Amino acid sequence: MKLLSDFDGVWTHPEEEARAQGVALDAALVAAAPPERREAARAWVERARREIAAEPTRWGWAPGGRIAAFSDEDPFGEHSAMLHVLAEHAKSDPVAGAIRDGVLAAGHGSLEAFGLASHLEGVQLVEAARGPGVLAAAAEAGRALLGSSVEIVVVSNSNGEKLARWFGHAGLPNHPHPEREAGALRLRGNAGKHLLDRAGSEQLVLDGVAIELRRPRYEAILREEAPDAIVGDVFSLDLALPLSLKRTDPAWRHVRLFWLVHDYTPARMQRAIATAAPEVEALTSGLPGVAASLLG
Ligand SMILES: [Mg+2]
Repeated sequence: MKLLSDFDGVWTHPEEEARAQGVALDAALVAAAPPERREAARAWVERARREIAAEPTRWGWAPGGRIAAFSDEDPFGEHSAMLHVLAEHAKSDPVAGAIRDGVLAAGHGSLEAFGLASHLEGVQLVEAARGPGVLAAAAEAGRALLGSSVEIVVVSNSNGEKLARWFGHAGLPNHPHPEREAGALRLRGNAGKHLLDRAGSEQLVLDGVAIELRRPRYEAILREEAPDAIVGDVFSLDLALPLSLKRTDPAWRHVRLFWLVHDYTPARMQRAIATAAPEVEALTSGLPGVAASLLG
């Protein structure tokens, strides 16, 4: 039995890290504007935040313009969405344009790279103050799964060093992919689940929610790993493509899909998945719930 697991939102509750990222990001956006436009930039940032909250599905993590995950799917989503709003508004709004130009002039190769820098800054601040954030209950569930001969591969957009550091802190044995050892986690960082096929779009529509499916980096990992179960918290990133594979590829028919529902999970996604994707097992009990379900 092989379980393919996401990291944040499965092994952690990323509320604090996301809050710190938001503070770092907004400050960096304002600072990117030239001094005479800082006040206007501050007002623009506040307006952009309100816009995202008002239309969560209009904005998201959208490198290249197409939405890879909606702004409201986890606590990091609204920060990724700030870069989406910035890219769009910079086309016509001079304040947004000045912020974007300042970001790029400061040496960030792209708005995405700038967003990642704010993410790393937020995580680093929280890690320095609190320590790594693998939840005790998740670590215990992980140990129970590994102890019952369940192979666990962690496939995450986070980098492998962070994953190794956080799991090590929690006392969970781990190795970077492709090293493997029975009873240890195998870590595949920088998985690029958000990277969409530039050549074209294909969408899974669940009760009116349209989710991009063509994720070549993630698909290659999924096909290589051929897991028996998958767990994640951001439906668009983690589970939409596996659900499509389960529906279309006989080799994937048996694969169990666990979607962790947290306090931040949008009610609209819960309704859509309950209505249109009964194959998905929505759990409010976190990784311990997955362990209980798999181990019986
Ligand atoms: Mg996650």
